[in-house]
Amino acid sequence: MKPLNSLLAATETTIFTVMSALAVRHGAINLGQGFPDTDGPADVIEAAAAALWDGRNQYPPLTGVPELREAVAAANRRFYGIEIDPAREVVVTSGATEAITACLMALLDPGDEVVLIEPLYDTYLPVVRLLGAVPKLVRLSPPDWALPRAELASAFGPRTKALMLNSPMNPTGKVFSAEELGFLAALLSRHDAYAVCDEVYEHLVFDGHCHMPLMSLPGMRERALRIGSAGKTFSLTGWKVGYVTATNRLAALVAKAHQNLTFTTPPNLQRAVAVGLTKEDAYFTGIGAALAAKRDRLATGLRAIGMRVLPTHGSYFLTADVSALGFPGDDAAFCRHITAEAGVTAIPISAFYAGPPPVNYVRFAFCKQDAVLDEAVARLAHHFAASAPQALTEAAGSA
Ligand code: PMP
Ligand code: GLN
Repeated sequence: MKPLNSLLAATETTIFTVMSALAVRHGAINLGQGFPDTDGPADVIEAAAAALWDGRNQYPPLTGVPELREAVAAANRRFYGIEIDPAREVVVTSGATEAITACLMALLDPGDEVVLIEPLYDTYLPVVRLLGAVPKLVRLSPPDWALPRAELASAFGPRTKALMLNSPMNPTGKVFSAEELGFLAALLSRHDAYAVCDEVYEHLVFDGHCHMPLMSLPGMRERALRIGSAGKTFSLTGWKVGYVTATNRLAALVAKAHQNLTFTTPPNLQRAVAVGLTKEDAYFTGIGAALAAKRDRLATGLRAIGMRVLPTHGSYFLTADVSALGFPGDDAAFCRHITAEAGVTAIPISAFYAGPPPVNYVRFAFCKQDAVLDEAVARLAHHFAASAPQALTEAAGSA
């Protein structure tokens, strides 16, 4: 039989699914895939339940229910001072995942170049390639993940159509500074390019860091497509409600992509997310504070075991250098090993690279109950205290 789509055939099942399945198989604590282990706000869930029963269960409008588009516009004004026309400049999607694909579809023709920053979230590259566009990868390096400005400047050229930007960044926890965003904005203006801004962790920032949308910088209102996710903002990752904010010229094409991907997103969940986005300021500032405490709890435990924990200023994740533990395999083998042998699952950072990756870093999600984090640390501590280097060498061979 004729071969199927070659790019999809060559695409691996996402590392998050692979590691979650392994966690289930071994009964491991899953600090891999990024999802909280407690539900989001009760009033938002109650709003969804009520919205199921009041007779609006047929197709909602293509770009989203008016309540949510209004709420997204109001949130842009409240948090960032960005004025958005809810009727023409918001498109509600089925999660940020769909939003990313829809934005890239709206911008790219075959042969266009897209600048992407490694380590990168795993859906970006396959979609860019499926659209026939040409990825230009620029790499941030641990431990400080600083912007390599010269490499970035030379990645941009006359064929650059777009930059894919993720801040706060998964998996590094980097929150791009105003100064870094200014540098990127200047490149975008100089090269007449657009930016797809994956800002799903916009409210998950710590230590007084402030998320700044690229769109809020001078000249970027017409060039940036800003993506949010109710899953992250309301700890309801299964809901898959995302939203794109962009000038009408761009949003109109995102809507065309959306009509061919899913057409619409469940109206009840949209209406509940609208309720969530109008919650008081304290809710949004409280998310970061609560997560920062969890980050510190897990980081302290991992350091005591001998891991070197890198700074993280946003997202659900911290990255740890595990070299000092003496495990002889790479990060992927390490994550399989601790899942099976210690009962704790993490994600290898190499999964976020297209080119040759670093192999000594792993990502842990800390969006879990304190007792769960404590138990994970206790399991790892017990395992590494009990494992002589020889035993680890043998284990690596079978991982
Ligand atoms: N972008 C990044 C950087 C993410 O970590 C995630 C994780 N879920 C998504 C997009 C997808 O968001 P959603 O679940 O809303 O599709
Ligand atoms: N964004 C989540 C993570 O980085 C996973 C989402 C998914 O499994 N697609 O862990």
